[in-house]
Amino acid sequence: MLVKQIIQSKGKGGVITVQPGATLADVARVLSEKRIGAVVVSDDGRRVAGILSERDIVRELGRRGEICLQDKVDDVMTRNVFGCSPDDSADLVLQTMTAKRFRHIPVMEGEQMIALISIGDVVAARLAELQLEKDALTGMIMGY
Ligand code: AMP
Repeated sequence: MLVKQIIQSKGKGGVITVQPGATLADVARVLSEKRIGAVVVSDDGRRVAGILSERDIVRELGRRGEICLQDKVDDVMTRNVFGCSPDDSADLVLQTMTAKRFRHIPVMEGEQMIALISIGDVVAARLAELQLEKDALTGMIMGY
């Protein structure tokens, strides 16, 4: 299974981004309203300046308390963002997420972000694929 198939199965719906000048309080609101775990930081919605996840907010809250909610995203986000290609395999993306300990990865076409997938998207897609394989094997064995 390839990343582009996962994007297709997710259906339409653009990536939720925030501007670097937004505050952590703004991001917490977006994460809560949209029921997501991370936002890509971007000036134009396509070029990736950074990523900020719920873990970053929790870490800052733990360290400094609620005053951190007034901080700008630009000061807290992860700048060195790992992306993947639509032609990468789901297994490679899962390995990267596991090895590097993050759960979100932007899908890039050159410098442009075309989608964001989470570890939940990859696992759901792989499970669906395994179910299909199981059904096919069961069919062969049982002679359906
Ligand atoms: P997550 O597990 O995605 O909530 O993120 C855990 C940590 O990794 C946070 O500090 C994020 O800012 C960072 N992070 C999330 N996704 C990526 C990514 N694709 N590349 C680099 N860092 C990331």
